[in-house]
Amino acid sequence: MLELCGLLKINVNELLSGEHIDMESYNSKSEELILNLRTENENYAKRLLRTEVYIVVIGIAASLIMTIAGVIIAVKNGEGDPLAAVLIVLGCLLVVAAALIGLGIEVKTGYYKCEECGHVYKPSSLLKTSFAMHINTTRYMKCPKCGKKSWQKKVLTKEN
Ligand SMILES: [Zn+2]
Repeated sequence: MLELCGLLKINVNELLSGEHIDMESYNSKSEELILNLRTENENYAKRLLRTEVYIVVIGIAASLIMTIAGVIIAVKNGEGDPLAAVLIVLGCLLVVAAALIGLGIEVKTGYYKCEECGHVYKPSSLLKTSFAMHINTTRYMKCPKCGKKSWQKKVLTKEN
């Protein structure tokens, strides 16, 4: 992008906004671009969190159907039916996979905000965060800045 700007003798903001910017409106233009980028990031995070819900709901539904079908086959054809065993095992694996994927998306999307000091951060450990007590996406964790434990709300952008 920088090379292209050099060739065209324009700056990156002009390239991104598609118009010539004089120095006076330069600052307000960059602010506008940053705000747009921020909204885009926020929308992306919202979409990801919505996808997480779909993955978990569909995963649990599919897993329930497979497990119930497995149990019905086992009752009809006897416990030794290999199809019943396969369906039940796959059903269990599926629900675990859906939960792990959902958890991964949730923890990695956006940031957590410390109630005590207002510090906004990305958690360093997926495992630790996953096991932290939570109500919806608010988790009881230790803040990396002030070290105090509190309920840390999920926020979608760093500036909130
Ligand atoms: Zn803190």
